[in-house]
Amino acid sequence: MPELPEVETVRRGLAPTMEGARIVRLELRRKDLRFPFPEGLEARATGRNIVALGRRAKYLLIDLDDGTTIISHLGMSGSFRIEAGPVSDWPGEFHHLQSKDEKHDHAIFHLEGPHGISRVIYNDPRRFGFMDVVHRSEIDLNPFLFGLGPEPTGNELSAAYLAERFMGKTQPLKSALLDQKNIAGLGNIYVCEALWRAHLRPARAAATIVTKTGKPTKQMELLVASIRDVIADAIKAGGSSLRDHIQTDGSLGYFQHSFSVYDRESLPCRTPGCSGTVARIVQAGRSTFYCPVCQK
Ligand SMILES: [Zn+2]
Repeated sequence: MPELPEVETVRRGLAPTMEGARIVRLELRRKDLRFPFPEGLEARATGRNIVALGRRAKYLLIDLDDGTTIISHLGMSGSFRIEAGPVSDWPGEFHHLQSKDEKHDHAIFHLEGPHGISRVIYNDPRRFGFMDVVHRSEIDLNPFLFGLGPEPTGNELSAAYLAERFMGKTQPLKSALLDQKNIAGLGNIYVCEALWRAHLRPARAAATIVTKTGKPTKQMELLVASIRDVIADAIKAGGSSLRDHIQTDGSLGYFQHSFSVYDRESLPCRTPGCSGTVARIVQAGRSTFYCPVCQK
């Protein structure tokens, strides 16, 4: 499942092709993904210019020149790829390039942009992704975006803010960090990584890194810095992998990371000087990886 850094990497990969381009045609090859495509989406998007490609949490936001925004979520297995070149080369070249995956191409943006003609293709074998369309001014009211907390990379996320949210909370720190109302777009992998960096045990109560008066402790400050760092590092890693992908087949999907603690059960802890072994526990039905020695 793509997490925020993957979605941001996809956004950065698509932006040069999509921003400023005209949608010659939006082609939907089925009626639904996880949900039906919005009524009349093809007609609404066709002929419009894309003014910006943004992101909120794990949602891509395609801003059109009529004040509407297409919201795109990648679900479990969604990915985009870019094919450049004249449509007349298609479908021959298309078949050649795409082989078996073509049947999962569900939405195709036929674009005419600053760099010529291209197609941005949404592929999703499991179809847990979806698209919606909203007026830009009402985007925060959309059911998927409503009530989301601040972005983990933005200035809104501070130790003081999170201390206010965590004050008096007895729920495990990990669950509090996964709560999208506290921070938007932070998922299982990066919560594990951030807690490891901050040397905090995932099962401790959220309120234990807040003072009685609701101020952040040093541990909270370290945690917030760790969250920013793990996300920034992953986006940076995504950028490197993006360059490799674009040079090969134009696909913008997932990339391999080397995690410090996630998925490293029974392997030595990577904290310098720590002799611990990474453990796995299950919290709220999801695997948590942590070091019982240096995470307290
Ligand atoms: Zn350790």
